[in-house]
Amino acid sequence: MMRPAIVILGQGSLATARKIQQVYPGALIHGLAGRIEGADTLYSEFGTTLRQLYQQGAPLIALCAAGIVIRTLAPLLLEKGEEPAVLAVAEDGSAVVPLLGGLGGVNVMAREIAAALNVAAAITTSGELRFGTCLLNPPSGYELADLELGKRFVSDLLAGESVRIEGAAPWLEQANLPQDQQARLAIHVGSAERKPAANELLIYPKTVCVTCAPGPYLAERVRSALGEAGIAVQSLACLLASHKQMADSTLHEAALALGVPLRFADVQPGAQLLIDVAEQPLDVSKLGRARGRLAVIGLGPGAAELMVPAVKAELARCTDVLGYETYVRMAGPFRDDQVQHCTDNREEMQRARHAFELAAQGRSVVVVSSGDPGVFAMAAAVIEALHESDDPAWHQVDLEILPGVSASLATAAQAGAPLGHDFCVMSLSDNLKPWSIIEKRLDLASQADLALAFYNPISRSRPWQLGRALEIVALHRMPQTPVVLGRDIGRPGQTLRVTTLGQLTPDQVDMRTMVLIGSSTTCTFPRADGGTWVYTPRWYGEKTGA
Ligand code: SAH
Repeated sequence: MMRPAIVILGQGSLATARKIQQVYPGALIHGLAGRIEGADTLYSEFGTTLRQLYQQGAPLIALCAAGIVIRTLAPLLLEKGEEPAVLAVAEDGSAVVPLLGGLGGVNVMAREIAAALNVAAAITTSGELRFGTCLLNPPSGYELADLELGKRFVSDLLAGESVRIEGAAPWLEQANLPQDQQARLAIHVGSAERKPAANELLIYPKTVCVTCAPGPYLAERVRSALGEAGIAVQSLACLLASHKQMADSTLHEAALALGVPLRFADVQPGAQLLIDVAEQPLDVSKLGRARGRLAVIGLGPGAAELMVPAVKAELARCTDVLGYETYVRMAGPFRDDQVQHCTDNREEMQRARHAFELAAQGRSVVVVSSGDPGVFAMAAAVIEALHESDDPAWHQVDLEILPGVSASLATAAQAGAPLGHDFCVMSLSDNLKPWSIIEKRLDLASQADLALAFYNPISRSRPWQLGRALEIVALHRMPQTPVVLGRDIGRPGQTLRVTTLGQLTPDQVDMRTMVLIGSSTTCTFPRADGGTWVYTPRWYGEKTGA
């Protein structure tokens, strides 16, 4: 299930929203900007936001009148099919109303939320009320063969017919079904491929594992091998391959095409596919292991809105999070099953190796950086650790770097476009490089008339370096050169100051500040709100045309 979105309209709903968030710790609380304080993320237009979330397939929990939700989503409802669960919950938590998404498990959610709020869910689905379960939404490990036939089946059942169960359907034991061995209607559970008859609800158990070797057309070959064996493709639970071939792309493509997980074990498959059918649906998580994943992610400067969606998705799916404590906290909240490994900021290589050790065990690991992970952050250390290692298990890990909005870009955007032309990015920290190199680069970059972005401008252990840096820049640049100081940009209490090179002194800057120094063409003018726009035009000297 995608993580639900909890949408609130008024401050009074926040307490109820937090209680619901306890049930779905990955869920974000979306609050109306200007009206709500303390939400996880802000929106400005209720209707647009709700429709967008719905179209993305996110389960929606709206803390407002059911009517508002219905009216808002109405234009999107004509197409019935795969719709996410949509619930209206009373602001004070006194009522939970499942509205849409019966097949998306809305009634299950309604019961879960109602239990957390200590009220009864307003279940109105007749099949569910009568039988105590949604027959069309079997539990994980089972798949319904045909939804349209299923609907007809349930309405026949509601009309008063009895039913017999063929095969093993343990989840139906508690259900309140009118069972009769002679019934015309049958619920059939089995992995054999068959055409569902009109009087039959056909459910495939996911009991089949296919062991395979890499190669072209693998998905097609699995499909036809299952077909020849008379087994339904819907019963396929996973593909299994040798742990020595974890990085092989044909295996991953086949698993993706078949919509099943790919697991690895110490097997040596031949050219022939090996089909195993179990008695019960397979618990895939206990079969061999997954390919480990390591994602080095950038959180952006801080605000949730500035985090890229791929990073959000990665945080939702990971099993382990590593990073400097402040960033790990910024990346949260995490679920109880997600392990947080907080370390000191300086132990970069050690943290990188720890990440590979975890990922090589098959875990899904995230290493967090602020801003972009490739800008004075963890990505280079992680790749360096891999380069230094000859452990094949490390090289088999699914390693990906997911970018973020770097502090220089986030600061520049707030000031206007100070980096609108060529610019140079530098860290002023001499912890990992000699100060003489920094001086040389400062000198040449200033001479080259590049706008400058300084990361790590100053710290308690590096008190004089910024002053020296500014002296070097001042040799090549006028005192009236615009300077932007962004502090805690995208975080609570952020400040943005526009000053000049002549007026800039190191005491105005700390380690949470981004320093942007203009080039000879950077200019400023007043904004209507009393602030200052700063930009560096894209032309140089004389306008040269497009
Ligand atoms: N990977 C990060 C940079 C890490 S270096 C990125 O891409 O943004 C740390 C330095 O970045 C800090 O000393 C500060 O100069 C700058 N910085 C990071 N986050 C910032 C923020 N939210 N506001 C202003 N400066 C920030």
